Amino acid sequence: MNNEKQLEKLNILLVDENRDSASLILDQLIQVSHLIKTDVSILQSLTEACHSLESNKYSVLLLCFNSPVHSIPESITLISEIAPEMPVIVLASYVDESLGCDAIQAGAQNYLFKEELTGPILSRTILHSIEHKKQLLQLSNHNETLQAFAKAVSHDLKAPLSNIKMISELVIEEVGNSLDSTITDMLQSLPVITNRMKILIEDLLHFSLVGQRGLEPDYISLYGAIKVASKLLELQIRNQNATINIGHLDEVYADGSLLTSVFQNLISNACKYVKDAPPIINISTKIDAGSVIVMVQDNGIGISEKEHTRIFNPLIRAVNTADYEGTGLGLSIVKKIIEAHQGRVWVESTPGKGSTFFFSLPQADPSVSSGFLNPTSLQSDPAY
Ligand code: ADP
Repeated sequence: MNNEKQLEKLNILLVDENRDSASLILDQLIQVSHLIKTDVSILQSLTEACHSLESNKYSVLLLCFNSPVHSIPESITLISEIAPEMPVIVLASYVDESLGCDAIQAGAQNYLFKEELTGPILSRTILHSIEHKKQLLQLSNHNETLQAFAKAVSHDLKAPLSNIKMISELVIEEVGNSLDSTITDMLQSLPVITNRMKILIEDLLHFSLVGQRGLEPDYISLYGAIKVASKLLELQIRNQNATINIGHLDEVYADGSLLTSVFQNLISNACKYVKDAPPIINISTKIDAGSVIVMVQDNGIGISEKEHTRIFNPLIRAVNTADYEGTGLGLSIVKKIIEAHQGRVWVESTPGKGSTFFFSLPQADPSVSSGFLNPTSLQSDPAY
């Protein structure tokens, strides 16, 4: 069904090295001129397209070009850098779903196979891609606004907390001796409370921002992420005389810095939720159906079965909060990061005996493996 908006003239850039194929596509667009009004510019190379994009604005780019220098994903990345707001549709000369998936992952809105192409399919795909790109841009603007809002709120909430802390310390210093001991006790607890509140605000900010910058995945060794996380927790590990044993680690395709955050949360919890014995943490991986399953096992207090799902929700704690400090955000950060990698996180645990946290990640392609060697214990590392 037509409406006024659909009949707005669309400025289309068609990049096709093959003149016959380009005029075929043009014919198909003419056939559906009752569905979309178009003004089509045809160029034959990516270089020409990039030049043109620098000075012209197009409603959509139809990319049929197979550059001898750049792959389709590389071409899309190059184009998106010059015209980030323009939707791109890949028209592949041969049926290859993996090429289409690569194109979508690189930022194309859609892909079609030339041999299946008809005027109505093309017009529908163009209109859908323009709308899809518009919604993506709106979403990204909303996210940026939300991030700025979260940062501003966090900053504005922390300022009065510092004042409360400072004033209470000043009052104790000035008139503490003349006050009733209950009042002094209450005043003395204020810095502790404000400090906890500050940590909660920082954790909430971290939770709201995590994953917002987008993933920067690479073929990485988990040992690197575990080592950095352990270094950041050095004091806690040393104070509690914790041992971290590292077993076999498969390589993964993941964002190393976000994985460090995952291990930091899991190792810190494994050190924190113990009763009498020093923490012993075993970390290893196994392969299951093309995914790497990471296991972080501890000898801590364990978690009752009814809490196994709930603890991954924000602000949920399954312990007596007076016994163990925390904000209830660590595992929800872990979940957010793992789900951004299309993975899953879960726990198996026996109260009083310990817990094993599991998460799945995409496996690294063995042909690009770095052949990293895994030391078996971080305590044997000179840093510990
Ligand atoms: P926090 O540790 O700040 O409370 P988390 O989100 O990291 O927040 O953990 C949520 C809850 O899950 C904790 O309060 C605790 O009850 C439980 N938990 C997490 N890790 C462990 C663990 N290794 N052993 C026992 N309980 C745990």
